[in-house]
Amino acid sequence: MKQKVVVFSQIDAEVLQRLEQRYHVVVINPKAGDVNTQIREQVADADAMIGAGRLLNQNNLETAKQLKIISSVSVGYDNYDLNYLNQAKIWLSHTPHVLTETTADLAFTLLMSAARQVPYLDQWTKTGQWSRTVGQAQFGQEIFGQTLGIIGLGNIGAAIARRGFHGFNMNILYHGRREKLELAQPLNARFCELDELLQQSDFIVVAVDLNAHTQHLIDAEAFKKMQSHAVFVNISRGAVVDEQALIQALEQKQIFAAGLDVYEKEPLQDSVLFQLHNVVTLPHIGSATSVTRKKMAELAYQNLVKALEGGQPQYVVNPEFR
Ligand code: NAP
Repeated sequence: MKQKVVVFSQIDAEVLQRLEQRYHVVVINPKAGDVNTQIREQVADADAMIGAGRLLNQNNLETAKQLKIISSVSVGYDNYDLNYLNQAKIWLSHTPHVLTETTADLAFTLLMSAARQVPYLDQWTKTGQWSRTVGQAQFGQEIFGQTLGIIGLGNIGAAIARRGFHGFNMNILYHGRREKLELAQPLNARFCELDELLQQSDFIVVAVDLNAHTQHLIDAEAFKKMQSHAVFVNISRGAVVDEQALIQALEQKQIFAAGLDVYEKEPLQDSVLFQLHNVVTLPHIGSATSVTRKKMAELAYQNLVKALEGGQPQYVVNPEFR
């Protein structure tokens, strides 16, 4: 009998086809009713799950009797209750590296768009406000040669730092749990405490993963420490930033602008952010290019197949539990 795979979000069509050739596949369909009820039902006799963007925890997984792996099509895994997965001896795999450069590109897109007020000036031009030469209100921030502070010099953080250093001659500061000399030295990057980074940087980019220590790492106090011309970028996870404090900082012009790809509650609807012209809001698209999403789906597929064949996938988050 074929093993059963539950697909819990939209995934690459070709990968879905390959899964269907190999396994008994059930796709969770939000249009067919409550998603968590469907997951609870379908997971009961499932061997594997694949997808992204859903909270999976005891509440919707406890019916599972033979689930070996959840293969996440993402690098971040804060949507999954690791404690429960460990207890239930379910592997969790993810897709690091293949999305690093694309996500770093997006971080730089946000940095530049916010610094030069691209969406605001695009609207300004299209609505016919360009009646004479631009003035102070349309001026942006200098990027070349300025100081870029990276919070979390992981894979993506380092790729952002490389863009800043090689492409824009930027002075790089970074903060993390430890110094990373191998990554930092070629970029002339200096490790510093968070407060110093916030005070000294012209551009601050958050690239940590969301965990118990990074929840609201950037709060009202942090925004107060930033320079009034600073540009703040978050491509990590929304909950790393106190969004109300960010809104206040933008409203009160404590900082110049922000570029956001992630939010405390997604999808972002009816937010005060929509009324502010000094923020660029994107719909969580860090890795969203066709090429990268395909690579992620492929890697997630390989992780899943490996586990169902009895091996250990390359990128397991909790390898000790099987
Ligand atoms: P990674 O290589 O694991 O990098 C995460 C970094 O955060 C590491 O350097 C880690 O430090 C650091 N960190 C963790 N806790 C910290 C703390 N308390 N204080 C300071 N630094 C801390 O992961 P990645 O591939 O770069 O991805 C980073 C995150 O970006 C993902 O987890 C995901 O949430 C997000 N992401 C978003 C998108 C998007 O679409 N917007 C796309 C991809 C990824 P250590 O080196 O000491 O562990």
